[in-house]
Amino acid sequence: MKISNKQVWFVTGSQDLYGEETLRQVAEDSKKMVEGLNKAGLPLEMVWKPTVRSSEEIYNTMVAAGADANCVGVVTWMHTFSPAKMWIGGLKVLQKPLCHLHTQFNREIPWNAIDMDFMNLNQSAHGDREYGHIVSRMRKETKIIAGHWQDQPVQDKLAVWMRVANAWDDARDMKIARFGDNMNNVAVTDGDKVEAELKLGYHVDYYPIGDLVAYVNAVTPDELQAMLAVYDSSYKVAPNAKEGGKDRQSVVEAARQEVAIRKFFAERNIKAFTTNFDALHGMHQLPGLASQRLMADGFGFGGEGDWKTAALVRTMKVMALGLPGGTSFMEDYTYHFDGKNNAILQAHMLEVCPSIAKNTPSLEVFPLGIGGKADPARLIFDTAPGAGIASTIIDLGNRFRMIVNEVEVIEAKPMPKLPVANAFWVPKPNLEVGAQAWIMAGGTHHTSFSKALTTEYIEDYAEIAGIELLYIDKDTNIRQFKQDMRINEVYYLLNK
Ligand code: MN
Repeated sequence: MKISNKQVWFVTGSQDLYGEETLRQVAEDSKKMVEGLNKAGLPLEMVWKPTVRSSEEIYNTMVAAGADANCVGVVTWMHTFSPAKMWIGGLKVLQKPLCHLHTQFNREIPWNAIDMDFMNLNQSAHGDREYGHIVSRMRKETKIIAGHWQDQPVQDKLAVWMRVANAWDDARDMKIARFGDNMNNVAVTDGDKVEAELKLGYHVDYYPIGDLVAYVNAVTPDELQAMLAVYDSSYKVAPNAKEGGKDRQSVVEAARQEVAIRKFFAERNIKAFTTNFDALHGMHQLPGLASQRLMADGFGFGGEGDWKTAALVRTMKVMALGLPGGTSFMEDYTYHFDGKNNAILQAHMLEVCPSIAKNTPSLEVFPLGIGGKADPARLIFDTAPGAGIASTIIDLGNRFRMIVNEVEVIEAKPMPKLPVANAFWVPKPNLEVGAQAWIMAGGTHHTSFSKALTTEYIEDYAEIAGIELLYIDKDTNIRQFKQDMRINEVYYLLNK
């Protein structure tokens, strides 16, 4: 099952030197490779393109790839030698994600049959090195995947890159709605929206909450009933939140907000959004339930005006389409120093995505204790143990920095008096080193958390975007991490 109708192009490099018969074989082999890869269940369709043999053909193919709205990236492979000066013009104009599949059509050397004809045809081992040289010389970011194209690890890496390329494409027309501004005085959630659009593609627009209130007030009784019916059939509804319960009105108002927000977004093609509990004039409550359910449907979300996290949540959700595990906005809340497996409790006021829920969430109404509005409805659940990643993008003033921390979700104990969805995790390599590195790097208290994705997705994304990425994983060592940050500081100053 494909995750979208977008495609990646497969471009095979060669040259005229080999004669017609060899070039016919090159075309046939690369067609078979594309057919085979398409049958392997990759997330996007791969489109075979005629072999490129000259700088003109390479240039024209890359221009066409750039102009085709359906093409989200280009995979290159040299079946034979392809003198790489021919690639300069084409690679210069290509602005889409690039992947270098360093493979070979045949799997093993045919020891008894191998002759010079075979050697002339199967030259990926040196043809791809010649091509790779110019990509490197041009300082062009590419994902290099080495190995036989029929091997699972190779196809897995290709699948990751395709998912990231698709998410990169999704950001081209990603519009993020901010209801209210950034929470006053908060530093890390703010940043340069112009630079974000230049570097990361997405666009951030401000909407006064009053614009949304008009939609809330226009919700019809039928729309409201339909939404409430979805709630009642999807979740375990707490007695006070049930029809006839003393707090049912909070659920009704939450449903009204959700209907309004969905309509508001559909009319404006909005893919991600932020709210701010300080900017709720005319709203009954903070739209927490709507935020949770919209995230579950693939919308990005960031609390307190955090548009960078909203965008990243959206992007990671697009990467993860159809994969098991779930992706959510998250916040580092409270530590648990038990001396054995020190961990962090993750939650937010309300807005945690039910895609990471262990069991059917319960729909409940409790006071919020912040923001001075009515008691909001929310979905409450725990997150199942297992591996995940927490990622963020921060604005350092002269550049964006991405940070990814591999984490292990562990079992939390019941918290009968804490009515929020949560996850409980140990950052790698452990809480002390993980938290120290994260804080040194300037990481946010908000993250985009995913149990569906791995660090490799974030690595591919940061390279396509051309932004810094710091890794915090099982191998993180503080002295080395500090040194990496110092080196990056110079690198990004010189490569501005
Ligand atoms: Mn927050």
